[in-house]
Amino acid sequence: MRSAVCPGSFDPVTNGHIDIIGRAAALFDHVTVGVLVNQTKSSLFTVDERIVMLEEVCAVYPNVTVQSFTGLLVDFCRDHKISAIVKGLRAVTDFDYELQMAQMNNRLTGIETLFVSTNPVYGYLSSSLVKEIAGHGGDVTGLVPDSVLKSLKERLA
Ligand code: ADP
Repeated sequence: MRSAVCPGSFDPVTNGHIDIIGRAAALFDHVTVGVLVNQTKSSLFTVDERIVMLEEVCAVYPNVTVQSFTGLLVDFCRDHKISAIVKGLRAVTDFDYELQMAQMNNRLTGIETLFVSTNPVYGYLSSSLVKEIAGHGGDVTGLVPDSVLKSLKERLA
């Protein structure tokens, strides 16, 4: 069985994330969405809230599950017999960092990272931008799932 992980903060999940998760789900037998628990980074939603939102929107993919992880992604992959990391590449600005991480992860355990080119419709989309715009009362309809839109409005009210 070929398994992959789509890692990230998902604070909150956007339609850009879902596009990548869905495409990974079409390529692999099983995909784990790995929600990074990062104590040093302040977040709008708790890890549990992010998992609930992700589980709801990923329910359409029977081979996708959601799990949090701490520590090194390569250790999480080894413990869960995951052989590939799937990341979305939005622009060249993503590339330097992602290439470095992919090479380091490969150096650590030999794990492969596959890059999926972003759907141009979501090329400019990030969770942080969504939070910033929504925080100033801007409309993020169509950029996040409707359930997330509702949670954003409630949290930022
Ligand atoms: P953010 O959206 O704040 O960059 P994440 O850490 O949650 O944050 O993103 C996890 C991964 O999801 C990123 O490394 C990237 O691979 C992918 N990703 C995020 N947004 C998009 C997007 N709009 N299109 C494609 N991939 C994306």
